[in-house]
Amino acid sequence: MRIVTPFTLLFCFFIGFHAPAMAQQQITLTKYTVKPGATEAGQVVVSPAAKGKAKVKLVGASAHLFTLGKDHTLKAKKAISEPWVDVVLAVGQGPSTVQDTFRLVKDEFITNRVIAHRGAFKNTGATENSIGALQHAIKLGCAGSEFDVHMSADSVLFVHHDHDVDGIHIEKTPAAELIKLKLPNGENLPTLEAYLQAGLQQNKTKLILEIKPSSLSKARGQALARKVVELVQKHKAQGWVDYISFDYDILKKVQELEPYAKVAYLNGEKAPAELAKDKMYGFDYHQSVLQKNPHWIEEAHRLGLTVNAWTVNSPDMMDWLLERKADFITTNEPELLLEKVRKLATE
Ligand code: MG
Repeated sequence: MRIVTPFTLLFCFFIGFHAPAMAQQQITLTKYTVKPGATEAGQVVVSPAAKGKAKVKLVGASAHLFTLGKDHTLKAKKAISEPWVDVVLAVGQGPSTVQDTFRLVKDEFITNRVIAHRGAFKNTGATENSIGALQHAIKLGCAGSEFDVHMSADSVLFVHHDHDVDGIHIEKTPAAELIKLKLPNGENLPTLEAYLQAGLQQNKTKLILEIKPSSLSKARGQALARKVVELVQKHKAQGWVDYISFDYDILKKVQELEPYAKVAYLNGEKAPAELAKDKMYGFDYHQSVLQKNPHWIEEAHRLGLTVNAWTVNSPDMMDWLLERKADFITTNEPELLLEKVRKLATE
């Protein structure tokens, strides 16, 4: 929660007509996870960068559990015993203080490379992109569960694949109507907020959040990206969420708002070097793109990028990607891929 003191508001009121608006500073972290047994939690970043060094402080009830180095490296005094812990940071900006709470997650996330596409739905009876499908993916022990996000006419975020639900266009319909829609498994169409709250109950399966390009305008896609990042920040979910999109500018917007977010591009036409230049986390390309450009896998790894492929349901293609050390494989058949990964581990 950001806090601006009443004095600041008064100050801004008096100078508002004479001075250009001062950009609101924002605190983010380079990393929201802490390895089990370790204490280092990454660095605190203040953006936009102030003139001179920003004075960041640990505040609040948990302040005594952490130290903040001169280089803004945040450390816990001892290894985190709970699945996650909150830290409150404040930075002075002129006469006001910006304060925000961040959740540091103990990194017990599974690294078996299996991403359940739209949740684990195909063999479980859950509807795709339902909270039930997410919970099945968690129960199976997938490294990640993927889902798709759109924005209603009145800017509320919903999880669904298509632009419409049985002919009702999400972007042209208010949230009050969308919230009443039922999925085939009896759940209501989930809001992103409800979906995140379900995913944040655990720290084993990552939430792979696909921001769908708007079907109405490019600008609406940018607004959607902003709303998504703000909601993730509101729920302190940064440690759980990786982002993917077919719209490169949506990913760039995410990076602008959360500079160290893990973002991967879906569309397939950009070579690894271009993604590395733009500080992307990696690519998540259609399997046919990687079959056409198998050298991109090695190239990506050399550049420090992650490799993911969608939507891989054939056993042969799973083997092909596993042999080439793809970091993630997105599939409608997580059970089959989990079995393959387990077999590989025992060989
Ligand atoms: Mg998707």
